[in-house]
Amino acid sequence: MASDVVEEIETLLGRQAVEDLDLEALELAVRQHVLQLAGAAVEQRLNADTSDERGSRTCCGCGQPARFAGRRTKQVESVLGPLRLERAYYHCASCGHGYCPRDQHLGIENTSLSPALTRMTGTVGALVSFQEGSALLTELAGVAVEAKQVERTAEALGKEIAEDERVHTEPLDALSLPQTLYLGMDGTGIPLRAEELVARTGKQPDGSAKTGEVKLCTIWSAESLDEEGIPIRDEGSVTYSAALESASALDTAARSPFAQRVWREATRRRFCQAPRRVVLGDGAPWIWNIADEQFPEAVQIVDRFHAKQHLSDLGKALYGPTAPRAAQWAERRKKELDTGKFRALLTAIRRQVCRSEDARRCLHYFQTNRHRMCYPDFH
Ligand SMILES: [Zn+2]
Repeated sequence: MASDVVEEIETLLGRQAVEDLDLEALELAVRQHVLQLAGAAVEQRLNADTSDERGSRTCCGCGQPARFAGRRTKQVESVLGPLRLERAYYHCASCGHGYCPRDQHLGIENTSLSPALTRMTGTVGALVSFQEGSALLTELAGVAVEAKQVERTAEALGKEIAEDERVHTEPLDALSLPQTLYLGMDGTGIPLRAEELVARTGKQPDGSAKTGEVKLCTIWSAESLDEEGIPIRDEGSVTYSAALESASALDTAARSPFAQRVWREATRRRFCQAPRRVVLGDGAPWIWNIADEQFPEAVQIVDRFHAKQHLSDLGKALYGPTAPRAAQWAERRKKELDTGKFRALLTAIRRQVCRSEDARRCLHYFQTNRHRMCYPDFH
């Protein structure tokens, strides 16, 4: 094959002097040729092997015999370009099922993409739009995958990953058990396409949804300190599990899909075995419901960033979004929060309640979450 390649390049270049070459055009053309040669060689090698003909009959999944019905060709898109693969085909007269045993071995069952191309496609499908993914694959890898196929592959991989996450809950022994483990829960709305919104109830007047809520469970440790002695997340200790799932159960006796996800992630991380356990949230009630039910011994803490965000927002609502007084007011409240002067904080907010509905809501938030905001005690 090496001599083939040299010959091809010679043909491409002709007698041109190096100075006259368009190197970019040359690179791309040579890559295409080399891929074609390699693809043809792989195709030839695979098709020469007919060991997948295991006699005239095999056993079909239904228990009845399947009859050998010749070799069939399938076009598979690979990172080397298209491959025409010939495989032994078996057909079962009882149930009508036909299959090629080799497809399973090669990982090309129910797909026209090779395993390596499936992985590449999944990678771009997870990062950019399916249209952009298709264009990137052509530009970067020199392979043709249509946008629709990027979408199908990304979705199939997504389903596989989701299934794998549900099935595998064995603890991750590679991560050591620290003194304190933190479990954070959060939810955030994301826009969805029309077909994904079917059957989701939402906040629109007619009960339909325009966005879905992605819920996230994060587990980490924070044994290390930064330069100022403030605990920071330990590198490599963070794991995530997220899905478009509801935190409310249809049946009150059952755990919601997201609560089950949290439980699986906690099992994997051995959360309940850590000497000290902390659940962090933004203050949304569903978070504390899951925490109360599944980790009653864990310390509950409102994420300090979220709590402070509430104070900044209230300052702006009271004095105007750009007023210096808004920032001053919020800064004083944040200091009270940090230093545990909770009574002073509540008094300051309460003073605004008569003139502001935002203040009333904010007061309620800080009152209900008070025991989760004793920041000086949490260190
Ligand atoms: Zn059958």
